[in-house]
Amino acid sequence: MAATLNMGPLGVRGLQETQNQLLHYFQSGRIHPALLLTGPDAETKIKLAIGMAKWLVCPKRIREGSFDPNCPTCARIGRAVHPDVYVLSDPESTSIKIESVRELCYQMGVASMEGGPKVCVIDECHRMTPAAANAFLKSLEEPAADRYFIFLTTQPGSLLNTILSRCLQFRTTPSAESEEGFEKEETEFEQMMNDFLGSENTLAIKKISDRETGLRFLQFLQRRLRSAIYGLPSPFSTRNEYQNLRAFDATLGTEGKLRSNANHALLIENLLIQHFTKDSQL
Ligand SMILES: [Zn+2]
Repeated sequence: MAATLNMGPLGVRGLQETQNQLLHYFQSGRIHPALLLTGPDAETKIKLAIGMAKWLVCPKRIREGSFDPNCPTCARIGRAVHPDVYVLSDPESTSIKIESVRELCYQMGVASMEGGPKVCVIDECHRMTPAAANAFLKSLEEPAADRYFIFLTTQPGSLLNTILSRCLQFRTTPSAESEEGFEKEETEFEQMMNDFLGSENTLAIKKISDRETGLRFLQFLQRRLRSAIYGLPSPFSTRNEYQNLRAFDATLGTEGKLRSNANHALLIENLLIQHFTKDSQL
């Protein structure tokens, strides 16, 4: 089931709506140091937390504004071998002990090993003993700069107020409707690109009404270009590989600019004219 879901903007399959919501929040400015994800799907939630950690730490995102969940740094986060990302998760255990929390808070307090942000993920945080939850207090109230705590729980009702009152909460409810919406938009983008490639007009851009849609459109282009480059079916299969590679790089550049609040319609128009018209073959 999960394998058929599309990749969201945080590089995770499923929970598309929550990922869009989180990304929107991340891009809005200052990020709260304690985030809480609640919802029934423990497995997807932890993947989402790893996706969030990648977004927060990704050097490509920090330096160039183009988040790459597959860059070498993010890949290490995914393999749980990045020294500045901690995950406290033990599905077997019934409680999270104070010793584990103290150790985690200590690690979060010391300097970052790689100079970037530090992130910790606490899975099933309602399992914390009251003493363990209290041990978080200082870290949550006086967080050092660039430190992020991501709490996960399937049972927000059992969560101690100590944690609850200090976190910014996001509910993760997988909704069939939002997945359907994604498929529908994908089909519209496909149609739009076919029209564009056939007619050499830029009217198609009118359909991209806002920045978020623009970002999703760029990710659509990247998926289709990647397919073409790997020899899979794609509207770009008939174009030459060099052209597709260049266009792929250009979509990454446009994505970075779009994330830094530039005019979305103009950026996408330029991209399409430079890399997706008949004259763009170099
Ligand atoms: Zn990355």
